[in-house]
Amino acid sequence: MESPDWVPNGIDVTVPNAARMYDYALGGYHNFAVDREFVERAEKAIPGATLVAHMNRAFLGRAVRWLAGQGIRQFLDIGSGIPTLGNVHEIALAAAPDARVMYVDLDPVAVAHSRAILAGQPRVGVLEADVRKPQSITDHPDVTELLDFSEPVAVLLVAVLHFVPDDDDPAGILGWLRDAMVGGSYIVLSHGAPVPELGGEVDTLKKLYKQTPTPLHLRSSEQIAHLLSGLDVVEPGIVPISEWHPDPNDGDPAPHQALLAAAGRTR
Ligand code: SAM
Repeated sequence: MESPDWVPNGIDVTVPNAARMYDYALGGYHNFAVDREFVERAEKAIPGATLVAHMNRAFLGRAVRWLAGQGIRQFLDIGSGIPTLGNVHEIALAAAPDARVMYVDLDPVAVAHSRAILAGQPRVGVLEADVRKPQSITDHPDVTELLDFSEPVAVLLVAVLHFVPDDDDPAGILGWLRDAMVGGSYIVLSHGAPVPELGGEVDTLKKLYKQTPTPLHLRSSEQIAHLLSGLDVVEPGIVPISEWHPDPNDGDPAPHQALLAAAGRTR
């Protein structure tokens, strides 16, 4: 069968992939049967997993609006995913027409589709890069051309760091990003956390993710606090995504607390 024209060359359509699974969970169509099957199995393992993807997207939107309200005009969205509903540049530009947004993802489908929908947008850029090599992002000419690191920047790491194992030094990655930015910048994240009341279901989910190129590395609130060391974590602290500056329009709270959110301000 021929691949649709949005599929970049060399994509393995037989292995589920985090960007495409998330796209399916959000109702997008840049995904394959293998991704859809994975999401159905994940939903069976943890009923509400798909809803949590929507809650995470809502958190991302609230975070961007909140950051714009703090005067932030530059956004570096790492692990940005396949553009779907409520993309960062749409929210940022609606809140502040002078905002600039750089999207970064490792996934070629996410990057290709981002490039396609953003062509001709002067205030928005796209880079294919790996968060595990943060210097390759902050030093990249496409990034330094769009973003001015002598002014505050918000780095968004939303639902991505749980794909980074301890061996890749996530604290070092955050330390690099923190030190690349001036005071008054932000790092905002959401991160998968172990949920004691789900117990065995989380093990099933972790087993499922082991079949993908991005196994899950869940971290507790204390471990996330450690990742944010050297930053001032702003109110309300490290909390379940639906409790981070909640907006009644976002609907019911997440069915479980599997994703934690936080924002840290640079000194
Ligand atoms: N941040 C978006 C959001 O929250 O709506 C998308 C989150 S999606 C669950 C995770 C994204 O992280 C995927 O697009 C995946 O390709 C990307 N990703 C995973 N590992 C990465 C890495 N090492 N470097 C950059 N992006 C990565």
